[in-house]
Amino acid sequence: MKTYIVGNWKLNFTVGEASIYLHKLLKAIPNYRDTEVVVAPSLIALQPLSLQVDRHKMKLAAQNGFYRDYGAFTGEVSFSQLRGIVDYAIVGHSERRYILREDDKMIAKKVAAAIRNKIKPILCIGETEGERAFGETKDVIRDQLLGGLSEIGDDMVDKVIIAYEPVWAISSGKEAKLAAPDEISEVVKLIRKVLTDTYGKKVAENVPVLFGGSVNPSNAGAYLTVPGVNGLLVGGASLILSEFTDIIETAKRVRA
Ligand code: PEP
Repeated sequence: MKTYIVGNWKLNFTVGEASIYLHKLLKAIPNYRDTEVVVAPSLIALQPLSLQVDRHKMKLAAQNGFYRDYGAFTGEVSFSQLRGIVDYAIVGHSERRYILREDDKMIAKKVAAAIRNKIKPILCIGETEGERAFGETKDVIRDQLLGGLSEIGDDMVDKVIIAYEPVWAISSGKEAKLAAPDEISEVVKLIRKVLTDTYGKKVAENVPVLFGGSVNPSNAGAYLTVPGVNGLLVGGASLILSEFTDIIETAKRVRA
């Protein structure tokens, strides 16, 4: 399986800044066959960047998309409009779950809409600090995982990438803490167990599981060697070119 390094730019960079960053990133990285580099710029930058990107070197992801293909949904952009522009889409990021109130039902429809439009969803799941403290991590992970996959057929599950992002470890959190490799390993094992029990071993083995939460050049190597982790979803550090390229090179080295 490939290693995925996905940069989530969130609400940062103007279109011009995004284009300059992409230009520098394309110059800085060679064509890594086994490492899939993906960046998720703001929606407004996706179309121009899709004309600029070298898809042999890296791919684009949307940070969101709407679950209906067209209609009276003011302000939304559908996955059918994103089709051909992006290869991936982040779905169910905790900032959308908790700030924009997206629930598992809506997230499931978005996962299905992305797949229907030939876009690979990166389904984000993860517990809050309070849920972990109350011993609810397993239930939350199970509910968000099966809830997010509930609108697609069993034969489509291996078209999804899962990103485990404990909310307490994401740098947008008030006091982000670093997740320990053991904590990640435990949850990644649980994700694969739930996938195996529900969809069978073959499907579970083919679903990439990424980790995200304050990843930076000094911890990327340790996170990438957690058993069962197939890549990283990087927020803050993906905005700094030298840090992001460092993480990509670490992935190449660790996985070689
Ligand atoms: C994210 O936004 O998905 C993320 C993991 O952010 P950060 O790396 O900044 O914690």
